[in-house]
Parts: sequence; structure tokens; C-alpha cells
Amino acid sequence: MSVTPQTQVCQICGESRRPSLGIPASMVDSGVSRLIQIEHPDWSSEGFICFADLNRYRNRYVLKVLEDNRGEIGGLEQLERTERPPDG
Ligand SMILES: [Zn+2]
Repeated sequence: MSVTPQTQVCQICGESRRPSLGIPASMVDSGVSRLIQIEHPDWSSEGFICFADLNRYRNRYVLKVLEDNRGEIGGLEQLERTERPPDG
């Protein structure tokens, strides 16, 4: 008697995973899925992504958002500095 476990193929790494080790692509945040689409143009919302890849892209998305915000804060700091009188 042989039981074939049901698996899903991750669109990113191409590995077969148990469905409990990932989520349907349709459940990925839109910001994250946009980031994935840049590197994987054939990304389909009908597919599957494993948690390892999802976490990787999620981290990159968070870093990207932080970086965008830091750019704005950096600009404000520079403005403040130029208005401040020089030390001494
Ligand atoms: Zn994967």
C-alpha cells in the first residue's frame, strides 16, 4: 500500500512541497507579489509559493519600503542641517 502525498510545486524554486509548507500565490500581499513578478515574469496567481521563498521576498519588500522611507527622512535631515548654524 503506497500513499502518494499531495504536493504543490513552488513557482520560485521549483521544488515540490507539501501544501502546508507554503501558500497559494493568490494569498501573497500585492506589494510582495509585484516584487516577485520583477524577477519571475511568469509568476501566476494560480500557483503556489513555499514559505522559504515567501519570507525571502517579504523581507526584501520590507527593506525596500524602509529604504524608500529612509530616503525621505534623510532628505529632511539634510534640510535641517543646512538651516542650523555651524558648530563652534
Ligand atoms: Zn520555493
